[in-house]
Amino acid sequence: MRRLESFIQGAWHTPDCEGMATSHAVTGEPVATVSSSGIDFERTAAYAREVGGPNLRSMTFHERAALLKQLGQHLFAEKETLYDLSTATGATRADSWIDIEGGAGVLLSYASKGRRELPNSTILLDGDPEILARDGSFIATHIAAPLHGVAVQVNAFNFPCWGALEKLAPALLAGVPTIIKPATPTAFLTEAMVRLMIQSEILPAGALQLVCGGVGDLFDHLGGQDLIGFTGSASTAALLRAHPAVLERSARFNTEADSLNAAILGSGSGPGSTEFDLFVSEVVTEMTVKAGQKCTAIRRVLVPHQHLNAATEAVAAALGEVRVGDPADPETEMGALVSTAQRTEVLAAVSTLSGSATVVTSSCEFHNVDPQRGAFMAPTLLRSENTTNPDVHTTEAFGPVSTIIGYSDAADAVHLTSLGGGSLVASVYTADPAEAHALTTGISAHHGRVHVVDASVATTSTGHGSPLPNLVHGGPGRAGGGEEMGGLRGVRHHLQTTAVQGSPDMLTAITGEWMPGSTRHLDRGHPFKLNFDDLDIGTAIHTDSRTVTLDDIEGFAESTGDNFYAHMDEEAAAASPIFGGRVAHGYLVLALAAGLFVWPDPGPVLANYGVDRCRFAKPTYPGDTLTVLLTCKRKTLRAGSGYGEVAWDAQVLNQDDDVVAAYDVLTMVANRPGVNGAPPEQTNNGGDN
Ligand code: NAP
Repeated sequence: MRRLESFIQGAWHTPDCEGMATSHAVTGEPVATVSSSGIDFERTAAYAREVGGPNLRSMTFHERAALLKQLGQHLFAEKETLYDLSTATGATRADSWIDIEGGAGVLLSYASKGRRELPNSTILLDGDPEILARDGSFIATHIAAPLHGVAVQVNAFNFPCWGALEKLAPALLAGVPTIIKPATPTAFLTEAMVRLMIQSEILPAGALQLVCGGVGDLFDHLGGQDLIGFTGSASTAALLRAHPAVLERSARFNTEADSLNAAILGSGSGPGSTEFDLFVSEVVTEMTVKAGQKCTAIRRVLVPHQHLNAATEAVAAALGEVRVGDPADPETEMGALVSTAQRTEVLAAVSTLSGSATVVTSSCEFHNVDPQRGAFMAPTLLRSENTTNPDVHTTEAFGPVSTIIGYSDAADAVHLTSLGGGSLVASVYTADPAEAHALTTGISAHHGRVHVVDASVATTSTGHGSPLPNLVHGGPGRAGGGEEMGGLRGVRHHLQTTAVQGSPDMLTAITGEWMPGSTRHLDRGHPFKLNFDDLDIGTAIHTDSRTVTLDDIEGFAESTGDNFYAHMDEEAAAASPIFGGRVAHGYLVLALAAGLFVWPDPGPVLANYGVDRCRFAKPTYPGDTLTVLLTCKRKTLRAGSGYGEVAWDAQVLNQDDDVVAAYDVLTMVANRPGVNGAPPEQTNNGGDN
């Protein structure tokens, strides 16, 4: 039988003994043996730190985002290899789509987030600078930089591709190398996916390793620069988080454990309502996708007592329509569990549940398969009147199993939901905004995500059971207390945030971003005449002045239609506690400022694409004289585009040097001809727009 290989220290490693056998979920035939025997785990962790870490940290966030994009595109191109293998896990084509294409999609999503939301540099600035000395000579800022360790991921069996990729994407983007340890029953699929990634030669050496089989003494070699991302059962989580690597050496530990997620039908969403139909349909979907082996699956179905019979009948009837059988058959809607051992565990959990709940339905026809050889199981619906019995709220049957539970009012629904002890997600089905508010705010402390459904999102909701790369995935308490993905939040878990204190010039040099109080270089001519490559941080202009007149204000009011009293009504403006007289429009101040700092001729500045952080600090009165201090604050190269983004610190000052407006002006500035894809001869038309 084939021995699964691990990818260790840049080479494929074949175990020196047979190891544990895994079997085909449909036929029961052996698939492969899994063992990590012969791996030197100390060297494996060291290789990640000594080779992978430096390779990744030498790249910027944007360069690493580009790797993720290539990797995602490569997996999409090669996906059929993975689909072919995925059937052996019991998954239908639709189930595998979530795992394979959903996983590759996470890579692409993080690639795009990294490019749009992270700087093209090796550190991330966190928040605004803090001024620590009254005269501004001593300031502080927070920087976040990648940890110098390794991210070890220990995954559950149910999503052999997605489970690895949703952890890999933020780690790689952050610049931290990864060791993937898949769950044994489906490690053959993860191994095939990692093989595709390694063959592509997209990643630098040491960025990715794979351990098929047990982790040996790996945790003994982890410490404070390392991360452990665990997905699996609460019992394994409890074991791993007690390891000295976590308790004594402070390795970062993130858990995604099991949870008994709820769906709550609103009291007004009875039979005949769109919300009722959506609710029934989602419960059936969640019970049967991946044969219910999803951490987010709906395990508890909370229904107002008055709708309990109708909801039970509707869910049972819809389950009766689900075609269960060979996952390779395109007609099949629900395939097999991962193994007959898993089925034994699920049936044991059903037996526990049936001590306090009645089985409504637990049989079906199995199409074109031998349900004894393969790990097939009928969707099983239970119903409980004994609502607070702990078994119903704490027994996870990790298969196509849910329990319908009656509730009396919103407070009761909130209480029952909380008996799960913390869950990944709950869904609320109601058309009533007040009920949505009461239920959502009532249960949010117990959940990582709340999914609110009414008729208006019938075709657009992304679904109860779908964690999204841009949303937090995790939950408190029993769900493990962890947090994954959530856009850049997931990246930040792999970074160390450091408060850096010093002079403004030092902090500018350290961070690469101009800090308030730092030197302005006013001797380089008009900065809009400099192309991206010749423009230094701190290059600045203090413009000529411009006196604001009443005519300017009235002309602006007339051309824009903005006749707000503070600009146009002398008496009312004089009575205003804020203005004490007529003032210029804030937008007029911005427009006049642009008139002062813009260089009119064609030049490297291609476009002005917005302003950030704009504040009008003081009123501007007719007769006030304005100047602008414009300083090159931040540069972000757009690789291959021929330009970079430049943010300018803009301070509009009056004749007393008071700041009346402060903001960042965002521009695109061309590279030197021939650099970064810029045309050999400059063809831009300059100015702002
Ligand atoms: P599991 O038995 O806890 O195993 C999870 C992982 O831990 C596997 O890779 C397993 O490896 C490994 N492991 C077990 N004992 C270990 C030890 N002593 N040291 C190091 N690693 C160890 O869970 P599972 O049966 O694979 O997955 C099902 C459970 O995961 C369900 O309870 C489900 O709710 C939960 N889950 C949660 C999420 C989530 O995001 N919250 C997602 C999916 C699944 P081996 O397979 O090699 O033993």
